[in-house]
Amino acid sequence: MELKGKTAVVTGSTSGIGLGIAHAFAKAGANVVLNGLGTADEHAATVADVGRHGTKVVFDGANMLRPDEIGAMLEKAEADFDGVDILVNNAGIQHVSPIEDFPPEKWDAIIAINLTSSFHTIRHVVPAMKARNWGRIINVCSAHSIRASAHKAAYVAAKHGLAGLTKVVALECAKSGVTVNAISPGFVWTPLVEAQLPDIAKAEGVSIEEAKAIVLKRQPSGEFATVDQIGSLATFLASEPAAAITGSNYSIDGGWTTQ
Ligand code: NAD
Repeated sequence: MELKGKTAVVTGSTSGIGLGIAHAFAKAGANVVLNGLGTADEHAATVADVGRHGTKVVFDGANMLRPDEIGAMLEKAEADFDGVDILVNNAGIQHVSPIEDFPPEKWDAIIAINLTSSFHTIRHVVPAMKARNWGRIINVCSAHSIRASAHKAAYVAAKHGLAGLTKVVALECAKSGVTVNAISPGFVWTPLVEAQLPDIAKAEGVSIEEAKAIVLKRQPSGEFATVDQIGSLATFLASEPAAAITGSNYSIDGGWTTQ
């Protein structure tokens, strides 16, 4: 798939799925604005890593908790690259806890980063995409945009919300050459999943290895999806042949949500 000459902003792309999507886009010829947390040295290394595919790659440290920083990141990207063609809303965090113990500040942060930041990015890019009659918005949702799991109140609420936002904006953009779709991975082996294992192990009274097996039980394939697979799907959705696909939510979950 060809993305030559396009510019993509991928939120939360210093790690895991976002980084996989950034690599896939750069390999397909797109310039990429990376974003996420971390140190200056880590960001420089990630820019060099994604930059080895030969396109222009820059980093912007906008915090997805801050609407002003989100706006500034997109304004800068539009100025530096003469427009943003592809937006991927991927930044996300997780917290696992029964509802009665769920810290309100964790609820607020998960809703802000996993849902509200996408409202801010989308409302910023849509006018220019509509004016150019071309745009691609891809929201990284989750199997948890379709199914629920105990102890993930904020995450499931945010991902269901993001799936709904995807459908609404797809309808609003349907005649404009701008497509809006969601990708819903099951479990993908990334730092976000790894960090949940101690809590699951504690809640279930099992070892970390057993917690990993519990996680994978949800996925009939018995295997984690990979960041490369998600990068390939995102690249297809961003490409020209995907022009008629909008408002869809693509599961990539080894069969989880068929159950
Ligand atoms: P990850 O922890 O590897 O990466 C998360 C990224 O988000 C990092 O780049 C991090 O720096 C960034 N981020 C976090 N808080 C931020 C903030 N305030 N501002 C800017 N950036 C911020 O996680 P991942 O597993 O790659 O998850 C990426 C997305 O995929 C998330 O939306 C997650 O919900 C979703 N997802 C992951 C899985 C999975 O199994 N890993 C499954 C379904 C959906």
